[in-house]
Amino acid sequence: MIPKQIGLFFGSFNPVHVGHMIIANYMATQTPLDEVWMVVSPQNPLKPKATLARDYDRLHLVQLAIGDNPRLRASDIEFGLPKPSYTIDTLAYLREKHPHAAFVLIMGSDNLDTLPRWKHYELLLRDYRIFAYKRPNHSGGDLAGHPNVRIFEAPLMFLSATYIRKCLRQGKSVQYLVPDAVFEYLQQTSLYR
Ligand code: ATP
Repeated sequence: MIPKQIGLFFGSFNPVHVGHMIIANYMATQTPLDEVWMVVSPQNPLKPKATLARDYDRLHLVQLAIGDNPRLRASDIEFGLPKPSYTIDTLAYLREKHPHAAFVLIMGSDNLDTLPRWKHYELLLRDYRIFAYKRPNHSGGDLAGHPNVRIFEAPLMFLSATYIRKCLRQGKSVQYLVPDAVFEYLQQTSLYR
């Protein structure tokens, strides 16, 4: 049996925006990946952040963004793992839980630059593949040439969740910057205001 290739796209998604969705959809449809799971990072109890919406609110927004797309999935896997969560531990847990899947890490080339500071990064690079997408001014450094790293040129949006939160705080429209269902939900709640 050929294992299902599942890409893991980690983020706070605070909130999820079209920049995230473009990457998730690109990876799920234009690379050998079968699916992409958007893994919502939980609040770190050691580093509470006033601007971070509650874990299940952020998860709900990602679910709304995905809708019925069969290639994308919202994952709350890290909510139940010891915090702070380290990617290498989350990957080990997922491998055990889904022995017939092959997990691939998705990250921007900016994260490749800083990967050597991650917990057990040598193991991570030895045991998992990384699909990176190019971000401006970040070549990915030496790791861009690693045999387990592949670099893709995905369409990029110059957009951040910080900007979306700022708009919402100031009562400005975020229509088209977030998926329609997320926009509608945000209009009906006081999240980020
Ligand atoms: P914030 O502004 O709150 O820091 P963010 O928009 O960078 O948030 P994250 O939840 O940190 O969002 O992003 C999840 C992942 O998506 C990270 O790896 C991040 O580098 C990447 N990412 C964020 N925005 C974009 C974008 N516009 N295009 C491509 N990748 C992005």
